[in-house]
Amino acid sequence: MPVEDWRVTQWHHYLAEGRHAEMHYLEQHLEKRLNPKLLVEGARSVVCVALNYFTAEDFPADSYTLSRYARGKDYHDVVKERLQKMLNSIADLTGKAYVGRAFCDTAPVDEHYWAWRTGLGWLGRNTQLIIPQAGSYFFIGTLILTEEIDAYDAPQPNRCGTCTRCIDVCPTRALSPHTGLDARRCLSYLTIEHRGALPAFASQVLHPCFYGCDRCQEVCPHNRFSTPTSCTDFVPSQDLLKMTPNDWHTLEKETYQRLFKGSAVKRAKFEGLKRNIQQMQE
Ligand code: SF4
Ligand code: SF4
Repeated sequence: MPVEDWRVTQWHHYLAEGRHAEMHYLEQHLEKRLNPKLLVEGARSVVCVALNYFTAEDFPADSYTLSRYARGKDYHDVVKERLQKMLNSIADLTGKAYVGRAFCDTAPVDEHYWAWRTGLGWLGRNTQLIIPQAGSYFFIGTLILTEEIDAYDAPQPNRCGTCTRCIDVCPTRALSPHTGLDARRCLSYLTIEHRGALPAFASQVLHPCFYGCDRCQEVCPHNRFSTPTSCTDFVPSQDLLKMTPNDWHTLEKETYQRLFKGSAVKRAKFEGLKRNIQQMQE
């Protein structure tokens, strides 16, 4: 049930080298992150599911953009609601009132590891879960169950081969073939989690995406399999897609609140979004 030794070592190196930047919550509850039994008493099984968030609707070519995952409703809410329904169904099937807990990026669960371990896909050099014939534009949901399951899936082999496209495209050299991701250099971390001014090396290469970064997914050859999601919650609103660069520069709090009501973008707060837009160099 605990994660395997190689993953434990990976986590210890990642934290010791400070590659988690200021995400101190990753240091806290590390033991729980490495062992679901410490998070869910009586845990016996892990089930992972993936929900596609790729949409056909996109920003026009001359617009500023946001990372794909942040264009619709907050995935925490959407995925959690579906997971809860799964839990309820499992409870009904077993006739038990409690069968475990549901997680989607809200607790110390090593979701990428478990998604790999449960056979959903492999972890690419861009650190994303890549699902064969489907790509990486997916949210991961995890159930930690107190029930045994009849048969468990085996992990998928890594199919990155000799490809290094994601490493080569990263404008801030945040990806290493040996150590993985350095959040201190990642635009996704810097535009969302980082507080204070953006470092110059980041603001120089942000344009046109001022929230998150999809470059290392966009170049991944396995994302040629992406197809539009059937989950309408992730479809961006026309109001969002119609925003011009000038609209973004003159964005006021009222419009921000309307555009991002119920969205994960609220994590960066209005001030954080304004900072990104103002510091983005064209
Ligand atoms: S999200 Fe962007 S900045 Fe971060 S590793 Fe990928 S390409 Fe680099
Ligand atoms: S771009 Fe290439 S190396 Fe990177 S995750 Fe995709 S297949 Fe793997």
